[in-house]
Amino acid sequence: MDISRRNMLRTALAAGAVESATAATTEQGKDTGVVKELKIARTTQSHSICPYCAVGCSVTIHTIGDKAHNVKPAVVHIEGDPTSPINRGTLCPKGVGLKEFVTSDRRLKHVLHRAPGATEWKEMSWDEAVPRMARLIKDSRDRNFEENDAQGRTVNRWTNTALIGGCTDTNEVNFLISRFRFGLGILPYENQSRL
Ligand code: SF4
Repeated sequence: MDISRRNMLRTALAAGAVESATAATTEQGKDTGVVKELKIARTTQSHSICPYCAVGCSVTIHTIGDKAHNVKPAVVHIEGDPTSPINRGTLCPKGVGLKEFVTSDRRLKHVLHRAPGATEWKEMSWDEAVPRMARLIKDSRDRNFEENDAQGRTVNRWTNTALIGGCTDTNEVNFLISRFRFGLGILPYENQSRL
């Protein structure tokens, strides 16, 4: 038998179709008359962008939960958005695994801080983290900002601190990041969109 990739896929798809049809109508060999419902049949759909790379594929996120106060919503499926002109419903193997990225118990949900010299990371609240970052940024800029270069020319720059952007930052986010860094005089900047 020819076991080319194409034939193997054809065989697997055919087997899957038979299995689905059987599961829909039988249970332990008996006809139940019950058609199995798709897991996305009662989901709320929201739209987002895959965070993995600069292609920026659009995704549809399926969430269950009726939005009642005591119901915790759960993401049950993420797929490519067919209305997107970028990926037209497709996702690469990384994007296909996005649900695990969202639901993984290893997902970082809190600020972690490792104090100078410490070996352990400790959880920190945003209320504590944001003023701390602002303080450190201000202090470092005050110490390192250069108004003039060695030849006395005006440069107004802060070169020992860099800023990094993300591949899914939108034009609007990148505009704000640019305003932020130019306002501070930060020159080193990296972003997958190569601004
Ligand atoms: S699905 Fe793949 S190609 Fe598309 S943005 Fe995600 S990682 Fe990039």
